[in-house]
Amino acid sequence: TIVNCPLLTSQRRRLSWVQLAGHKGSFKAGDEGSILKKYSENEKLCFERLKEDALHSFVPSYYGVVKRDGELFLKMKDLLAKFDLPNVMDCKMGVRTYLEEDLVRARVKPKLREDLYNKMLEVDSAAPTAEEKKQRAVTKPRYMQWRESLSSTNTLGFRIEGIKRGETCNTDFKKTRSKEDVIQVFKDFVEGNKNIINSYVTRLEDIKQALKASEFFNKHEVIGSSLLFIHDHTERAEVWLIDFGKTTPLLDGQNLDHYRPWEEGNREDGYLWGLDNLLQTLSSLAWE
Ligand code: ATP
Ligand code: MG
Ligand code: MG
Repeated sequence: TIVNCPLLTSQRRRLSWVQLAGHKGSFKAGDEGSILKKYSENEKLCFERLKEDALHSFVPSYYGVVKRDGELFLKMKDLLAKFDLPNVMDCKMGVRTYLEEDLVRARVKPKLREDLYNKMLEVDSAAPTAEEKKQRAVTKPRYMQWRESLSSTNTLGFRIEGIKRGETCNTDFKKTRSKEDVIQVFKDFVEGNKNIINSYVTRLEDIKQALKASEFFNKHEVIGSSLLFIHDHTERAEVWLIDFGKTTPLLDGQNLDHYRPWEEGNREDGYLWGLDNLLQTLSSLAWE
């Protein structure tokens, strides 16, 4: 299905902002060139730590906590502001999309979610087990693991969450899993433009170097974070790291290499493995 994007249109300029993931209402337009994201303590701390980090030039500039209508928000740069009718793609990185503590919680004190059960049914009526059908509910990790197995998260270490091209948004990539399917989606996204592909590849290589140099990256489990791809008809093309709501610090002295397979307890996220696969996917288009 192709849905209309929830667009926040600025009156002053021809610019429009678009949200490809997350709950409606978790973002507001800020002043010119900025947006407001619903406050989370965890994400705020990440933005603060990133200010001093090797990754800072690949993360939207952060302008602090602000209050609107009695609610707190994180104010950050609107990455789309400089573009002219941009095409946008949200790629969720990593081999896992939930925290280890979510698993533990679901075992100790399972919370049954009817809403997630219904979402599951919508995609595949055969997905719930007999027990889940009886209770008409699933736990959150069960739902997340099922989403991972349908998509390319487990097999490629990233998945496409949403794309905006022209005036339309498409968030229906839940079953885009095979390498071939992913390549096709990328190809459509860049409309075969080699200059844009090459800019994306170069930018991703820079991001990879920055990640390897980053102390922040070394000391955090990065879950549910995305790379946001943005380009327009002028062939301006950029990639940015966004969404640190579930990026959590490791214990003192611990670090991750972001390649090793995940086993419960090692907290690995497969971020760099996914990035390598992403780079390979895009590079294959550049050679065609
Ligand atoms: P979820 O956890 O479900 O992915 P979320 O509420 O944490 O959602 P984000 O993933 O941070 O929200 O952002 C949702 C969408 O908003 C992104 O896919 C992107 O389209 C847009 N977006 C987020 N941050 C920016 C930004 N700084 N500039 C422009 N667009 C942004
Ligand atoms: Mg997100
Ligand atoms: Mg998030």
